[in-house]
Amino acid sequence: MQAQAALATAPGTALTVDTVELAPLRPDEIRVRVAGAGVCHSAVLARDQQYPVPLPAVFGDEGAGVVEAVGEAVRSLAVGDHVVLGFNSCGTCGYCRCGQPSSCTEFFAHNFGGYRPDRSSPISWRGAPAAGWFFGQSSFAELVQVPERIAVKVPAEAPIELLGPLGCGLMTGAGAVLEVLRPRPGDSFAVFGTGAVGFAGLLAAKASGATTLIAVDVSASRLELARELGATHTVNSRVTDPVAEIRAITGGAGVEYAFDAVGITEVFVQMTEALAPRGHGALAGAPPQGDRAGIDVGSLLFTQQRLSLVLEGSAVPHEFIPRLVRLHQAGLFPFDRLVRTYPLSEINTALADAESGATVKPIITFG
Ligand SMILES: [Zn+2]
Ligand SMILES: [Zn+2]
Repeated sequence: MQAQAALATAPGTALTVDTVELAPLRPDEIRVRVAGAGVCHSAVLARDQQYPVPLPAVFGDEGAGVVEAVGEAVRSLAVGDHVVLGFNSCGTCGYCRCGQPSSCTEFFAHNFGGYRPDRSSPISWRGAPAAGWFFGQSSFAELVQVPERIAVKVPAEAPIELLGPLGCGLMTGAGAVLEVLRPRPGDSFAVFGTGAVGFAGLLAAKASGATTLIAVDVSASRLELARELGATHTVNSRVTDPVAEIRAITGGAGVEYAFDAVGITEVFVQMTEALAPRGHGALAGAPPQGDRAGIDVGSLLFTQQRLSLVLEGSAVPHEFIPRLVRLHQAGLFPFDRLVRTYPLSEINTALADAESGATVKPIITFG
């Protein structure tokens, strides 16, 4: 069986759209016809080998579509089910068994290894295996074969072609707020960075009932969109000191909850300095490994703040993704305002628009 897919063949070069061959379906796998696949920063990092996924590879870690076939051991899904594909995990380590799959001891291998644990791949290209197990899914392809455990069933009436980003980028931002920070109605919240992850955090804080919602970014157009989506205050950190500004907005106290979706250590420090005493800050942006932040620990002690480091929203995809769909259906999580769709043939434009910020969340659609 064949499928059109976007392949990365060398660091820093454009993806190639070509035909890949699918291997026979394994008993514990399902075949999904992808309706849409979100473009996540991880694809660019992996293409350029900042994450060493072996090339050639098909990326894509935010797929959603319709189940077309199930392996003989699959019990939880049936042909015709609509599914969002979440991140992959081993399912057997202590963290997985405790319902903390984002801390899976095999997280890196299962998401960035590119191949199944036995080193095989569900796809080949030009007669040789290609990495087709990126986040267990490699969903920049019209058809994918994935492990049953990463597929989360969602209601058929939801717009399946748009739901893929709920499996990674939007889960990361919304999970950091709903699962970790948990602001209460009437609280104050600041988000640093209004990309897809930051916007998901902002929407989640608004859905939680936080009433002071501050968005910090360097892009005037993003801050304008943040206003439209519920930010009560915006701070352009290119022209204003965000810490001083946040303190001014909150009457000198600082915010009760803050979220760093940027992943630059300077911003992380600003986030800690913008927090009120006993405030809680979360980092979900990914600084390069080895980065160190200069935090005034001596002063921080007296604030009794909390800082959390959050991967994949610290969420359990099977519980959290349907919750985000329900919030969306209720009008409380309007993430469709963040997306723009592109056909597979324009995937390189979609990646460029994601990097430049022209589109908050590009989605590759197949139809
Ligand atoms: Zn595990
Ligand atoms: Zn991702």
